[in-house]
Amino acid sequence: MPPQATSFDAIVVGSGISGGWAAKELCEKGLKTLVLERGRNVVHLKDYPTMNLNPWELPHRGAVSRQVLKENPLISKAAGYGEDTMHFFIKDRDHPYVQEKPFDWIRGYQVGGKSIIWGRACQRWSKHEFVTPEKLGYGMNWPIGYEDVAPWYSHVEKFIGVCGNADHLEAMPDGEFLPPFEFNCVEKHLKDSLLKRYGNRHVVQGRWAHLSQPKEIHLQQGRGTCQARNLCMRGCPFGGYFSSNASTLPWAAKTGNLTIRPDSVVHSIIYDEAKGKATGVRVIDAHTHAITEYQSRIVFVNASALNTNLILLNSTSSRFPHGLGNDSGLLGKYICHHNYRTGASGRLDGFEDKYYYIRNPTECILVNFRNLGKQDADADFVGGYTTFTGGYRERGETQVERVGGVYKESLTKPGPWGIYMYMQGETIPRETNTVSLHPTQKDQWGIPLLVTSVGYDDNSERMIRDWQKQAKEMLAVAGCRDVEVRDNNWAPGLDIHEMGGARMGNDPKKSLLNKWNQLHACQNVFVTDGACMTSTGNQSPSILYMTLTARAVDHAAQEMARQNL
Ligand SMILES: Cc1cc2nc3c(=O)[nH]c(=O)nc-3n(C[C@H](O)[C@H](O)[C@H](O)COP(=O)(O)OP(=O)(O)OC[C@H]3O[C@@H](n4cnc5c(N)ncnc54)[C@H](O)[C@@H]3O)c2cc1C
Repeated sequence: MPPQATSFDAIVVGSGISGGWAAKELCEKGLKTLVLERGRNVVHLKDYPTMNLNPWELPHRGAVSRQVLKENPLISKAAGYGEDTMHFFIKDRDHPYVQEKPFDWIRGYQVGGKSIIWGRACQRWSKHEFVTPEKLGYGMNWPIGYEDVAPWYSHVEKFIGVCGNADHLEAMPDGEFLPPFEFNCVEKHLKDSLLKRYGNRHVVQGRWAHLSQPKEIHLQQGRGTCQARNLCMRGCPFGGYFSSNASTLPWAAKTGNLTIRPDSVVHSIIYDEAKGKATGVRVIDAHTHAITEYQSRIVFVNASALNTNLILLNSTSSRFPHGLGNDSGLLGKYICHHNYRTGASGRLDGFEDKYYYIRNPTECILVNFRNLGKQDADADFVGGYTTFTGGYRERGETQVERVGGVYKESLTKPGPWGIYMYMQGETIPRETNTVSLHPTQKDQWGIPLLVTSVGYDDNSERMIRDWQKQAKEMLAVAGCRDVEVRDNNWAPGLDIHEMGGARMGNDPKKSLLNKWNQLHACQNVFVTDGACMTSTGNQSPSILYMTLTARAVDHAAQEMARQNL
């Protein structure tokens, strides 16, 4: 496309996990597609400056300097933030927001978004997760069910590459898997102990977006086998894990239909009252602050859940004075997230004659066994939880100070085995958990600051207590000693899976989006990132965003062909 072109078939806002998928699918369908990304360009391989560095080649051996910590007290709390990865996270001072209640908002603004730094866990939702909130009275039904998304899960899994084992479990349906990474001896022991003791508690191999054994479709993307270096968040020189940069964006570019414009901060979506639909997007250049308007027949909003809410709220017109499509007044409400507040660990005697010889970039999953499709009689909370777990062997004496000759000497001997666990719990979408626009404060581009008012509730506290009780018991069942359980007491936000605000539903009075992720009141605008989530489920969400995106693009293309959009 000539650089000055402003008219396209489709515009995608955001180039992260969901935006990359929108771009791929739209371009493959022959639609001229513009991807607008607020951050800088990050080209696969070329822009991964630390991908091949050894610790001693980093100025602080990978540790974050005091200066960086002082300047970035918030973002430096993010999982995986380090000297080797911090260039893929925002800087606190550049992107302020207003925390009405404490909320640590973790962001990565660049081409590829958070797909470079995500954890890569990719489980499917069970059929129960779509319906249990309404059935048990703590939420609303989705307008779709598992059977609607199952073929699209397959579509996505085949392309991104997900390793895992077919375990035939109701709580976590199987997908199109590449071979799993192996359990180590302690993980196998944990799996066997829990199954023997409980019968319904399954520890399975990680379902992770890694190419354990690439297929032709992955080689065509220029990606290769995961080397289990466990340096993923630096960007992978092998394309061993899925990111937009390694996969969907270059694939979309190959069609010749993609224009990607980094450094383009989307201000709002333009609504034409006479036509009764959106006609394009208003963009502010990140550096010059020049404003450009781009036109298209359809718009996909994939700026990540909270930024998508911000853009929709900021897209006002006389038809939509409170934000695009916001006839229900619910835009920005029912914000929810996962509950990551608690973890546990213990030491395990035995297995001293065993070790493991490769790294494993995945974690084991202890599949949800709580409130599965019904309320457990002994549970004083609603919702389920997934537990991530793993067995590891420490290096050296654990009591030795981590410096000097004695420490070095101790490293020559393997230390004790341990097992860790942590929870990823469902939360209840509540109308009172909101994001909104600040009436006066603006960012450097003149866009209102986002106000977050999101908190944990009593149900989350009760779930944490239940999980801790169960984890303590399960670690004991596995034979662990020195068992510790923790509540990190952190604010929401660090839980990284923010969702909601523009939820899907059949009833326009109770939701913003229909079953195809179109705004009920402005059908040529699609929202397929976390903002669309009607409830949180207990599985890692991003593969569902990719799935819903591919499904929505297919619908959009059909409607465009019928001249309905
Ligand atoms: C450390 C970490 C680990 C995680 N692990 C997992 C995991 O294991 N499994 C899982 O399912 N999920 C995981 N997640 C969550 C996952 O990263 C997100 O769910 C996912 O990236 C969301 O995709 P997205 O496309 O909505 O947003 P993003 O990937 O964040 O992309 C959004 C893009 O939109 C751009 N943008 C924002 N506002 C604008 C604007 N106004 N104009 C133009 N562009 C804009 C951003 O710069 C960004 O590039 C993890 C997240 C983190 C931080």
